[in-house]
Amino acid sequence: MINRRQFLANSALAALSGHIGAALASTPSPTPSPTPWRNWSGGQTATPAGRFSPKTEAELVQFLSRTTGPVRPVGAGHSFTPLVPTDGHLIVIDQLSELISTSRENMTATLGGGIRLGDIGPALEQRGQAMLNLPDIDRQTLAGATATATHGTGIAFPSLSGFVESLRLITPAGDVLDFNAEDDALNAARVSLGALGIVTQLTLKNRSPYKLRARNTVEKIESVLERFDTAAMAHRHFEMFPLTHSDYALVLEIDETEGAVNNPPPAPEEAAAFGQAMAVWAATPPRDRKPLVDALAEQIQPSEVIDTSYKILSNVRNNRFNEMEYSVPLHAGADCLREILRTIIEQQVDVVFPLEYRYVQRDDTWIGMSTGNEDHAAISIHRTASEDYRPYFNLIEPIFWKYGGRPHWGKIHSLSAAQLTKLYPRFGDFQALRKRLDPEGRLLNGHLRKVFGV
Ligand SMILES: Cc1cc2nc3c(=O)[nH]c(=O)nc-3n(C[C@H](O)[C@H](O)[C@H](O)COP(=O)(O)OP(=O)(O)OC[C@H]3O[C@@H](n4cnc5c(N)ncnc54)[C@H](O)[C@@H]3O)c2cc1C
Repeated sequence: MINRRQFLANSALAALSGHIGAALASTPSPTPSPTPWRNWSGGQTATPAGRFSPKTEAELVQFLSRTTGPVRPVGAGHSFTPLVPTDGHLIVIDQLSELISTSRENMTATLGGGIRLGDIGPALEQRGQAMLNLPDIDRQTLAGATATATHGTGIAFPSLSGFVESLRLITPAGDVLDFNAEDDALNAARVSLGALGIVTQLTLKNRSPYKLRARNTVEKIESVLERFDTAAMAHRHFEMFPLTHSDYALVLEIDETEGAVNNPPPAPEEAAAFGQAMAVWAATPPRDRKPLVDALAEQIQPSEVIDTSYKILSNVRNNRFNEMEYSVPLHAGADCLREILRTIIEQQVDVVFPLEYRYVQRDDTWIGMSTGNEDHAAISIHRTASEDYRPYFNLIEPIFWKYGGRPHWGKIHSLSAAQLTKLYPRFGDFQALRKRLDPEGRLLNGHLRKVFGV
């Protein structure tokens, strides 16, 4: 029998079709130039003139005020889009990664922007706090994740940027700016694409530590869609991973619990069973795949684990891929998903990665993908890193547009300023603020010039 966690950790067929990249991307360390940089998927590369990793904010201020030329902040390099590449200097704030302070009264914590999400949970736990939500993985930095409006699952939760109560940003000229709840511009700085300055610390709204129970099942996609709205309200987190060329989806419900921790690592024989079953699937052309995928899906047994919140909310993704994700207004989510799945079948797209379908609460950020008056459904498609993602993503992207989709800033999209302006009422305000804080365009690279129409 196959375990759903195993299924996702192995990211479908990547392991079986020999596509695992041997070289692993890692956060650039402060080494002398020219050390090439690449992102997690290997799809984006650059040869920066150098890397600067300040030990203190004062060092960063000094560096920025005494130098000229392009700079780009980099987090963990987990964005798929070319947000980071530069031939100037990369700013790596991995030494500004402390838990700086906590407020018991306000249930907030101030953290260095370079801290990895995975390091926040244990540090907060010692201070009687926990993050409200996390994305699928926790390798990203806090500043990098919020810069692209990285989100988790749950209709009651905005993106991580929605938990940011205040932040400190150092402009390309070396000015130190603190943005608080009273400043309208905090809503720009919370999702900034690294285009306003270097974010060195952020204060997050948290809660007391809690445990979660995750329940994994398999269900027909149509039946999940029918009950999605109700289930999204009933569970703390609810999402599905629709299988391609199949009627089925993997379904994940997560709820708070007082139950005892029970989170054993998957058994090795489950991995072997998984491998054998998927090898058959991989060797089958898309047009003949459905009965096999459906049969495999029907074998996946329900499972349940309980653990501390941060150990349940984020996962391990072993195999490299590229991803496109758009958020569409909630009312359009199901139809958009249906059209994508239908198109994959009709066009016989040879893709084995499941999609991901989840709800995200609206927020007030200027250019976050879920800003506005309506909550959003976020829909992701994936392609193994060694494959050319363009034919598949180019086929699906217009479907997202048709349903009023907005792209995830960290995931592949082809939009430029002319289209983006229409998607965000405050896009013009963001462009003006960007110009004010970075009049010389030091923080711009080719991708951001296209995005902001510079
Ligand atoms: C396997 C995988 C799973 C993922 N799962 C999810 C998910 O569940 N939900 C989701 O929404 N996204 C997800 N993502 C996307 C990812 O969370 C975002 O792309 C995120 O921005 C990456 O964070 P990072 O620290 O790697 O930043 P980077 O990719 O290095 O940088 C992202 C942006 O942040 C800017 N930046 C970095 N540091 C700073 C700083 N100190 N100050 C100002 N700007 C800065 C950069 O210039 C860039 O514009 C996933 C990505 C991968 C590879």
